Amino acid sequence: MMRYVVLLGFLVGASLIHQVHAQAFLGVPVSGVNGKDYHIVNYVDWSIDSIHDHQCGSKSYDGHQGTDFVLRSFAHMDSGVNVLAAANGVVTFIKDGVFDREKESVIAKGLGNYICIAHPNKYYTYYAHLKKNSLKVKVGDTVKMGDPIAEVASSGNSTDPHLHFELWYDSLYVVDPFSGRCGNAEPLWLAAPDYDTSFATIDYGMHDELLNINRLREREVTMQRPYVFSDKDTTLNFWSHHVGMRLGDTLSINWYTPSNQLHFTYDFIMQQDWWYYYFWSYIPQPGIAGAWRVELERNGKNILSQPFTIEKDLNVSELQVASQSCNSKTNYLVTPLSVTERVDVYTLSGKWVQSRTSTSDAIKLPQGLYVLRVQDNENVCYLKQQVF
Ligand SMILES: [Zn+2]
Repeated sequence: MMRYVVLLGFLVGASLIHQVHAQAFLGVPVSGVNGKDYHIVNYVDWSIDSIHDHQCGSKSYDGHQGTDFVLRSFAHMDSGVNVLAAANGVVTFIKDGVFDREKESVIAKGLGNYICIAHPNKYYTYYAHLKKNSLKVKVGDTVKMGDPIAEVASSGNSTDPHLHFELWYDSLYVVDPFSGRCGNAEPLWLAAPDYDTSFATIDYGMHDELLNINRLREREVTMQRPYVFSDKDTTLNFWSHHVGMRLGDTLSINWYTPSNQLHFTYDFIMQQDWWYYYFWSYIPQPGIAGAWRVELERNGKNILSQPFTIEKDLNVSELQVASQSCNSKTNYLVTPLSVTERVDVYTLSGKWVQSRTSTSDAIKLPQGLYVLRVQDNENVCYLKQQVF
């Protein structure tokens, strides 16, 4: 299974992209480091009848009139990423109050919350899809280059948190601030952000429930490393998030058993360039306890390797004997264990929760009743323990 994301957002109304010969005057309109805190996934489309950006590449979509600076997730957006005034000017328009967690492209929703700034050289800059109630300026305010004016979000016609930045000359036509052999001869940036088409991984992980793209966008993947699954989990899920996926690239996912056997493999071949790409895949619970790993290859080269453990749950007969067969005076969750002792903690229905050995710290658990399986060399006993 795999999905992709195309970021959207543009001004309504057609206009021609213009060749410009002007003095560079723009600073980067989002805080952070290009390629780390944000990725530029769409540039202005210079093609009349197909798609190409200023470098003759595919980092755009048909009719796109701005530059999209995308964050890695809604969780990242919630941390607060500033939109910055690209140059000195005066705020001429603001719109606020629009819902800012859109995940579907609806063209009619337009720019969402946005700001327009007029600059002394007759240029106008637009900052779109802003976070609701994050706008720090009002109409008539004077701003300086680099001033925080709002935060990045996903209001309007937007699928992921991103800043759509758009540049107009005298309200007459759209201008691409970048330069390249398929675009303008000179940039309007004082220091243009790099044009980067390289492949990279933004993030990856595992989860014990089936995933979908909106859960990934929200990073509703609460499992933490080290990943430990119970053999009562029905699926094992792997996900990853990339930039720079190219037409013809092959992603291969390989699941390896504790005895290093290839348990399952699958290839996905890209049918086009994807500049912001979510991937996820799962296998049914294989029922083999031990130390597993899942690996992702791109074009035959390993890019990610994630170890994980499957723990064996208690079966019904083990649950039935779980009364007082251990020394019930010992608190096996807290007291130091001998090197030969191991304690596995399960829910009352036998689902593995956590394990402890002589080198592990005391276990803190949510309130409730648990089943403990205590092993000392060959001897195994069970007991139920209440956690208050
Ligand atoms: Zn855009």
